[in-house]
Amino acid sequence: MALNSHRYQAQLKSETFTILKRGILWATYVSAALLFVVLLNTYFFDEYYHDVEMFLIQLVPLLCVIAVGLVCAKINGLFRVNAKQIYSYLALLVLSWSFVLYGLTQLSSQNMPGVESLSDVLVLVFALALFPNRNVMILGILPFLLFSALYHSMQYSQVLIYPLTKFMCFLGIIMSGQKIISGWFFKAVVRNIEKKKLLRQFKRLALIDGLTNISNRRHFDEVLLQEIKSSARNEQPLAVILLDIDYFKLLNDSLGHQVGDGYLIQVAEIVNSALERPRDLVARYGGEEFVVILPNTDIDGARSVAGKIQRMLADAELVHPSSGVSRYITASQGIALWHKGMQSSDLLERADSMLYKAKSSGRNQYFSE
Ligand code: GH3
Ligand code: MG
Ligand code: MG
Repeated sequence: MALNSHRYQAQLKSETFTILKRGILWATYVSAALLFVVLLNTYFFDEYYHDVEMFLIQLVPLLCVIAVGLVCAKINGLFRVNAKQIYSYLALLVLSWSFVLYGLTQLSSQNMPGVESLSDVLVLVFALALFPNRNVMILGILPFLLFSALYHSMQYSQVLIYPLTKFMCFLGIIMSGQKIISGWFFKAVVRNIEKKKLLRQFKRLALIDGLTNISNRRHFDEVLLQEIKSSARNEQPLAVILLDIDYFKLLNDSLGHQVGDGYLIQVAEIVNSALERPRDLVARYGGEEFVVILPNTDIDGARSVAGKIQRMLADAELVHPSSGVSRYITASQGIALWHKGMQSSDLLERADSMLYKAKSSGRNQYFSE
């Protein structure tokens, strides 16, 4: 986990920040509800208070901060807010709440247990909202914790033991809760990242041929369907080359299956490097057969690609001791062009029949319609 933690630090940081932003938005909603409760209290218990007008003015900063927070969240969305903006907003929210708490202490000459409860509720609200970041959380709840302790000691007794114990207990419970939750959170983030990585690997494995590392038949089928649709829509030519290595069975017999496998890998690399356009695709069609899709390519273009593959194979000089046509590995190729209304199977059938012609006319050559 220690190694992982280092590797996932950046991702963890960004996910932490996202959760923090959500938490601060939630604290804004709760603040709005609490502010409403405070207002109701001043309305119903008007006669017990003095200087209510003065107090109502002290609610204005908090009201403004909440309004700004909600409007910004609505307009910008959560994800475009940066760290500086969010921490400044949080500082303003905490400060304006502290101002309201101070205003409440001035409101009545009698004891007001509700003030202490309100500040305790704020401790819990901000602890939950800011739990992903321990330092920010402590800074966020500290003003309310201190207020609660000070208010109690000033109003009820000069003995510090109760407020001090309460202060320590609150802080201890919140810090240990934060530790447990952030541990879970961290594990969930790491699992999520690993899951995404695995999914990417599975997708790759499902589309790639295990031996040659080029596309497999399944990927080829998908891409060919897409390219046929695209050619039909844009009225552009589309060519396919089917390539079969000559006398490969004899090569296996003389050099062994393992060398044969190595040759397949090299042939795949050669065909792949013969393709120049990003949309060109080579796939292993099966055994020692390969297939090439050439979008937006006419018959002359396809013939020139086939010629290039033939030359590059010859230049690679992969020794074939028992070939009937050369000292080196060669391949026969069949080229087919897509015509309107043709299905992918029709196209491949044509390419196959051209390949058959190339084989029966002596191999190491390409044939097209
Ligand atoms: P030609 O195509 O020129 O007619 O002769 P060929 O010997 O290549 O004929 P065919 O296509 O019938 O034989 C294919 C051989 O390819 C059969 C098998 O021994 C070999 N082969 C198929 N898949 C693999 C593979 O994954 N690894 C190896 N080493 N050989 C394979
Ligand atoms: Mg074959
Ligand atoms: Mg063959």
